[in-house]
This record gives sequence, structure tokens and C-alpha cells, in this order.
Amino acid sequence: MIIKFKKNVTINDVNYVKQWAIQKGVQPYEIKGVKYTVLGLVGDTSSISIDMVEAMEMVAEVKRIQEPYKLSSRTFNPQDKIITLENGTKIGGDNFVVIAGPCSVENEQQIIKIANSVKKSGANILRGGAFKPRTSPYSFQGMGFEGLRLLEIAKKETGLPIISEIMEISQLEKFENVDILQVGARNMQNFELLKELGKIKKPVLLKRGLSATYEEFLMSAEYIMAGGNEDVILCERGIRTFETGTRNTLDITSVPYIQEKSPLPIIIDPSHAAGLSKYVKPLAISATAIGANGLMIEVHNDPQNALSDGMQALNLNQFDELSKKIFAMKEFLKEN
Ligand code: PEP
Ligand code: MN
Repeated sequence: MIIKFKKNVTINDVNYVKQWAIQKGVQPYEIKGVKYTVLGLVGDTSSISIDMVEAMEMVAEVKRIQEPYKLSSRTFNPQDKIITLENGTKIGGDNFVVIAGPCSVENEQQIIKIANSVKKSGANILRGGAFKPRTSPYSFQGMGFEGLRLLEIAKKETGLPIISEIMEISQLEKFENVDILQVGARNMQNFELLKELGKIKKPVLLKRGLSATYEEFLMSAEYIMAGGNEDVILCERGIRTFETGTRNTLDITSVPYIQEKSPLPIIIDPSHAAGLSKYVKPLAISATAIGANGLMIEVHNDPQNALSDGMQALNLNQFDELSKKIFAMKEFLKEN
């Protein structure tokens, strides 16, 4: 961290900030220029609030050199994080995963049918919401624990690992057989939930909040990792912008940006980004081309009658066609 003092700063003021820094556990180094005095803070500055320093009367400007996140930072952990699920499926690095399934589990027949079909098309992981964070309290809220039970049946039948959204920690016990816990966009900054998920040994897929910056996104991952659970998968699912033509705006730049800053895998969810099924294919293809570590796509056997997010779901044939394109694109990228 670099602190630039105001012109005509007094020796007392500089010494005060030096002492304050030492108390915070970092070493201050003073550089005296002709016009300005500058202090470089060396050490772990992640617990120092930049706003707090900026608010000091004698300070003109502060610049952070080191990111405020550590465990989720590539500076501290240069190797790509590879997460291995119970059945051996790997996520991260060169391993590309396709997660597919309905927005919500609706009944046994529905989830089994979709599971068998997406598996045949090449999906590696089955998704299905049991607890749904809906904008309206009158919309379908998910089947709850019964939904998880049906998802487990689909897992047994197909061998596909399963992922489902957890909304509060009291639900955890019932997620025992769920392979990946999803934290939804609306809960990205539910810090109490993140802290609890840090204490368990199960991969967590963290979705980017509706208007979260990259730094806030990685700080949320840091919450989980700081508790001891380092198996975090990031998921870009579109953000809120001034654009109203689509449900959200897919921030494709997040892939190279996050991959540069963090060793954690980042996957793209084109379904929630687009909000309309016709845009899912081009977004999924561009996400693959840009180097995302995987995709999460909503698929339904009867999108028109889905209980949630039907308008953005691909039907079984559309997903099959898209899968072929995605796998062909992966092959092309390997060779070129
Ligand atoms: C979901 O995956 O069904 C979901 C609700 O996603 P998000 O949290 O990104 O809105
Ligand atoms: Mn959905």
C-alpha cells in the first residue's frame, strides 16, 4: 500500500501514521520527495481498510498494490485450483465441465428424464433447484427437501454428480448427498452463510451477485476459503446494467479477468444472463471460446410448462445440439 501525504505535512503527522501502521502489523518505509512525502507499507495489508487511511486528515491519496483477498488470489496461489468430485469429475485448469438440468426439480419423472437426456448429450453434472429464491412470493418456491430426494434418485440412476442451491445453513444436513452446494446470486454477500460454508468439506459454486464487482465477488470467495474450505467454483451469471433487452448482461470479460487474478475455476451460466433460450447458444459458444472452465445451462423437457425460468430453458434436443457444438469447439481450441 502506498500513502501519499498532503503538501506541508508535519513530521509528527508522518510519525503518527508510521506508528499506526506498525500497530496494524506492517512495516512503513518513508520516501521524502521535493514536494511530497510518501509512505510504503510492506507486509500483509489485507486487513487494512483503504477508506480508513484515506479518511486521515494528513493523507492526500492511497493506492493498494496488493489485492485485499489472499487465498483466492493468484499472487499467493499461482497454480490453477483443481476440484475433484467424489466420482472423479475434475473442475478447474484444463478440465471443462458442463452442468445441465432444470431450474427447478418438479417431479420424479421430469428430473429422471432430463438427467438421462443431458447425460447422453455429454453433461458431466446435473443441476436442479429445490429451494428457489424467487422475486415474487407467489411464484413456485421449489419442492424443498423432496426436490433434493428426487435429485438423489436421478444421481443414482445416471451416476451424474448433482448440484443444488442452499439458501440457509440449517438446510445443510439434507444436502449430504449433494456433490456441489450452489450459493445463488442473491446470497453472494450473505456473509454468515459463506462463513458456515467455509467450515464444511464440500465444493461450493458461488454465483456472482447482481451488481457485484470482481473484487466483491472474490472477497466473497475469500470468506468461504478463510474458513478452511478452498473448493470454490465461481460462476458468472450476468449482471444488472442499464440494458433491458435481456434479463441481465453477460460480462464475458469476467473470465480472463478472474483467471488472471485468481486460480479458482470460473464457469459461465448463459441461461440466467440471457433470460431467453434463443440467446443461450451464442453466449455458451462465446463463453467456451473465451476459455471459461465450464458452463451451467438450464434444460427442461417441456420448457413451455416449466414451473420456473421456462423461457430461458433449452429443450432436450436444443441442448443436445448445443453440446455437440461446444465439444467440437473445445476440440478446435485444443488443436489451434
Ligand atoms: C439458479 O441457478 O436457478 C438461480 C436462481 O440462479 P441465480 O442465483 O444466478 O439467479
Ligand atoms: Mn433458474
